[in-house]
Amino acid sequence: AVPLVVAINTSTAAQNGMLIRDRIAMEEARNLDTVMFDKTGTLTTGEQGVVGVETAGDWDEQRAFEVAAGVEGDSEHMIARAIRTAADDRGIDPARVSNFENLRGLGVTATVGVRQSGAPSSQPEPDSGSGDGETVHLGGPNLVERLGIERPPAIATFADEAGSNAQTVVYLVREESAIVAAFALADVVRDESRRAIDALHEMGIEVAMLTGDSEDVAKAVADELGIDQYFAEVLPAEKDTTVAQLQSDGKLVAMVGDGVNDAPALARADVGIAIGSGTDVAIESGDIVLVDNNPLDVVRLIRLSKASYRKMQ
Ligand code: ADP
Ligand code: MG
Repeated sequence: AVPLVVAINTSTAAQNGMLIRDRIAMEEARNLDTVMFDKTGTLTTGEQGVVGVETAGDWDEQRAFEVAAGVEGDSEHMIARAIRTAADDRGIDPARVSNFENLRGLGVTATVGVRQSGAPSSQPEPDSGSGDGETVHLGGPNLVERLGIERPPAIATFADEAGSNAQTVVYLVREESAIVAAFALADVVRDESRRAIDALHEMGIEVAMLTGDSEDVAKAVADELGIDQYFAEVLPAEKDTTVAQLQSDGKLVAMVGDGVNDAPALARADVGIAIGSGTDVAIESGDIVLVDNNPLDVVRLIRLSKASYRKMQ
């Protein structure tokens, strides 16, 4: 869908890779105190790859990938894409699943069907033939906390190590009770993120980061980029209240995000800035859309706002 573009300086803006959907927000941009960025897909490319796997329990790596890729089959999340690609790279076919459910901001769940007899398998399903399958969950620390389960020692060691290297970890859980595998995913910080944050600081603007990812990963990325304040393990429903919290301190806040989960925060912010490659919902909730997915365009946008509206006063 082509957004309705209205503004006097739309052509200058368009040349700079931004579509202005709300003129007032563009005018407000010159007075911003704080810019809050979503982490995944915004400050990072979001093109994650699986860089490690650890298992505990009866399932080997092959079975863990099979089940994880199956459970992620219907998810559009970047984590899901990474898991499916990793399984495919290993020549592993996704397990058949039913009852798929997307647990927003937590992960995914599905019932893993019992393998057809005669299907190729390195490890036959022990309860093969019972017909019912079992419930499997795949998700991050918020999910593990929600289920109230402990991480087996080998998984905890693996995950803590990965987290300290800014890798995102997701856990595979059987029957809501046992973590049987963990996958570590590495994401890449965009080259432009560091320069954007430095430039915002030079303008006297504070930079904050919001993410559903773990405390470890958030801290590593925030430290790497020199971010002033971060909020980790934020559930989708809490993203907009985090923006509101900054606003209640009297700050004029911009939110920059790409995901479905970011939409309420984009709507809540004084200036909502959507990443053009993001989800439709995010784009529709943004006042301004960055066509080139470049965090430096946030800086250009603020400069353009200052230059344009100074002239008008
Ligand atoms: P972010 O705020 O970093 O953009 P989300 O709010 O989309 O992330 O997701 C938050 C967390 O929920 C992820 O870091 C991950 O732990 C978990 N999660 C969400 N979707 C999935 C999925 N499809 N598979 C596995 N984990 C997921
Ligand atoms: Mg995101």
